[in-house]
Amino acid sequence: ERLVGADADGEDQAVESALRPKNLDEFVGQPKVREQLDLVLRAARARGGTADHVLLSGAPGLGKTTLAMIVAAEMGAPIRITSGPAIQHAGDLAAILSSLTEGEVLFLDEIHRMSRPAEEMLYMAMEDFRVDVIVGKGPGATAIPLELPPFTLVGATTRAGLLPPPLRDRFGFTGHMEFYEPAELERVIHRSAHLLDVETDPEGAAEIAGRSRGTPRIANRLLRRVRDYAQVKADGVITREIAAAALGVYEVDARGLDRLDRAVLGALLKLFGGGPVGLSTLSVAVGEERETVEEVAEPFLVREGLLARTPRGRVATPAAWAHLGLAPPRQNGG
Ligand code: ADP
Repeated sequence: ERLVGADADGEDQAVESALRPKNLDEFVGQPKVREQLDLVLRAARARGGTADHVLLSGAPGLGKTTLAMIVAAEMGAPIRITSGPAIQHAGDLAAILSSLTEGEVLFLDEIHRMSRPAEEMLYMAMEDFRVDVIVGKGPGATAIPLELPPFTLVGATTRAGLLPPPLRDRFGFTGHMEFYEPAELERVIHRSAHLLDVETDPEGAAEIAGRSRGTPRIANRLLRRVRDYAQVKADGVITREIAAAALGVYEVDARGLDRLDRAVLGALLKLFGGGPVGLSTLSVAVGEERETVEEVAEPFLVREGLLARTPRGRVATPAAWAHLGLAPPRQNGG
C-alpha cells in the first residue's frame, strides 16, 4: 500500500468513521457541491418527501462516501452502502432494492462498474420505484413487478462520463468533486487533529496539507504518520520541522511525490534527457510494470504539470527539472 495512494487501506477503514464530518456544515471545501446539495436536501425536507437521486463524481478520497452519509443524516434516514462491483447479477440488486425502507439512502459506490442487467433494473427502480423480478428461465420466464418504497440513490463514480447517458439522466442532481486547495486541507487536518487529540501548529498542518495531493483521505493518513513520529521523536506537537522530518522518513516529498513518482521522473530526466520516451522503455528503466507507471505514478505527475503524455512519448516539463533540482539540457542553438 502506498502512503500517498488515494484508495482506502485497512487502517483508513478502521479510523475513517471517526473522522467523517457528520453534517454539511462540518464538511470542508467543495463550496459548489455543498451549496447545491444543501438546497436539494432543504427542499426535500420542506416537502416532507424523499430527496432526489444524487450522483457524485470525483477521484477517490475526496469525500463521496462522506457526503452520502451526510445526505442520510440530514434527511434523518438510514443508509445502505454497496458498490457496483458487488452487484454482479440483477438479482443482487433486486434483493437490495426490495429490502429498502421508505426514504432510505442507497449508496452505490463505483456505480459505473455495475453489470448491464443490473443497470437496466436500476433505471426503472430510480424512475418508477418499481422492479421486474424475473422468475424462471427461457420461454417460461415471467416478470413479476414489485413496488419499491421511495428511496434516494446516491451514486458515486470517478468520472460521470463513464456512465451511460440513460443512467446519468435519472439523477436529479450531479455534484462534481474537485481536488482540495491546500488551505482547505489545512482545515481538514486541524479538524482531524482535534478529533485524534493531537496538537498541531498552523505551519505543521500546512506542511502536511502541501504533501496530501489535494485529497482529504491522504491528508488524514499523513497526519497519523506524523503524529506517530511526533510522539516517538518529540513532545507530540506537530510543527513544520516535525511534519517535514516524519514525511521524509516515508519518502513523501514537499509536493506529495513518493519514491515511485520520483523514480519515474528521475529516469525520464536522467536517462532520457527529459524525453520524449515511450512508456514501455520508461517502465523497464524504472523496473516497474507498464500499468504501474501509467496508472499509479503518471496521473499525479500529469496533474502536477511535471510530466506530459504526448503522441511521441512521455516528456518532462521544465517544472520537473526544477522539482528534482536538476538543470535542464541546453537547447540546440540556444
Ligand atoms: P470517497 O468516498 O470519495 O473515496 P470518503 O468520503 O471515504 O471519500 O473520504 C475519505 C476520508 O476523507 C473520510 O474519512 C473523511 O474523514 C475525509 N474527508 C473527505 N472529505 C472531507 C471533507 N470535505 N471534510 C473533512 N473530511 C473529509
